[in-house]
Amino acid sequence: MFDIETRCEAKRTRVFVGTGIRKRIGEPLSVVWESRKPERVLLVTDEKVGGLYSEEIIGAMKSGACNVFLHVVAVGESSKCVGLAEQLYHCLAENRFGRDDVVFALGGGVVSDLAGFVAATWMRGIRWVVVPTTIEAGVDACLGGKTAINIPGGKNLVGAFHPPIAVLADPEFFKTLNVRDVRAGLAESVKHAFLTSEEFVRWHEENVEGILGLDEQVLPELVTRNLKIKGGIVEADPFERTGRRMILNFGHTIGHAIEVCSGFTLRHGECVAMGMVAAGRISERLGLIEATLAERLEGLLNRFELPTRIPNTLSVDDILAALRLDKKVRDGRVQFVLLEGIGRPVIRGNVAESAVVDVVESLRN
Ligand code: NAD
Repeated sequence: MFDIETRCEAKRTRVFVGTGIRKRIGEPLSVVWESRKPERVLLVTDEKVGGLYSEEIIGAMKSGACNVFLHVVAVGESSKCVGLAEQLYHCLAENRFGRDDVVFALGGGVVSDLAGFVAATWMRGIRWVVVPTTIEAGVDACLGGKTAINIPGGKNLVGAFHPPIAVLADPEFFKTLNVRDVRAGLAESVKHAFLTSEEFVRWHEENVEGILGLDEQVLPELVTRNLKIKGGIVEADPFERTGRRMILNFGHTIGHAIEVCSGFTLRHGECVAMGMVAAGRISERLGLIEATLAERLEGLLNRFELPTRIPNTLSVDDILAALRLDKKVRDGRVQFVLLEGIGRPVIRGNVAESAVVDVVESLRN
C-alpha cells in the first residue's frame, strides 16, 4: 500500500466589473484566453435572459472568432436538474467539445450553477466563464467555484468545486430585472456586510435609495465590494474545509429549509433574508449579541423590502425536518452561523432545537 499526494493546480478567477462591459466582451476575453483561445464556446442561458441579451453577447463574442453554440434552458430553479445537465452533455458531445473549449454561463445563479456543474464534469473539468445578470449572481453566485444541481432528495446535493476562469460583471444587466429579483439579490450583500464590517453595513444603510434605484455610480461599487469580500473568504478556504468559508452560510441554514418547504416558490435571497433574521434572533437568545444588533439587521432587510417573517403556510415541523437534511449537519447536529457582532461570525453546532423552534415560531406571520 502506498500514498500519493496530489496537488490541484491553484485555480485563478479573473474578475472584470464594468458598466457596459458586455458590449466589448472581446477585450477582457482576450486577456482571459492568454495562449489557450477556445475553438468552441457553449453559451448557456435561460429563456428570459437569452431573449434579452444572447444576440448581443454572441455578436460581441464572434468578433473574437469563436464558434458559439447557444443552449437555452427554462427559467427557474427547476432547470438545475440532472435532465438538463444531460441535455448539455449531449450538446457538448454532438459538437465535439474538447479540453480547450469553454462553457459560458449568461444568467443568474440558476444558469451559473448548472453550466458550472456541466463544465466541472465534462471531460473531468473544462474552463468556464460567468456573465452574471442578476444581483444574486453578481454579488455572490458567480464567484467561489461552487457549482451544483438539485435532485429530489435535496437542493445542491450534486455538485463540484470548479472555479470559473473569469467573471465578466456588467451592472447594466440589473436594469431589466424585475423588482422582486433586485431585492432578493441584495440579501447576499447584506450578509457579506454583517459578516465583515461595520463600515460596509453603514454603506448599505446610507445607500438604500441608490441601490434600490440601481444608481449607475453605486452598482459597480456594490458588485466590486461584494466580490472582493467573497473572493477573500473563498481564497482562505476554497473547499470549505477550515470553517472560514462556512461563514458564508450565514442565513442559509434556516433559509435553505424555508426554500425547500416553499417548493422553491420563494426566491433564494428572500429565504436567506428570513434565515438571517432567524440567525440574528438565535444569536440574541444565546446572549451573543444585543437585541439592538438583531433589530439593525432586520431593519436593513426591511428597508430593502425583503421578507423578515416566515410565511405561516410553512409548518415548523416541515422546516425542522428540512433542517435535519441540510448539508451542514455534522454528527447529527445542525451547524448554525451566528453573530457575536458585526464582522464576528461564529459557527455553533450545539443550538438547542427548542431555541430554533421558538425563534421560527416567533417569526411566523
Ligand atoms: P435565477 O437565476 O433564477 O434568476 C432570477 C430570475 O431573473 C429568473 O427569472 C431569470 O430569468 C431572471 N433574470 C436573470 N437576469 C435577468 C436580467 N438581467 N434581466 C431580466 N431578468 C433576468 O436566480 P438567482 O436569484 O440569480 O440565483 C438563485 C440561484 O443561485 C439558486 O439556485 C441558488 O442556490 C444559487 N446560488 C449559488 C451560489 C453559489 O455560490 N454557487 C450562491 C448563491 C446562490
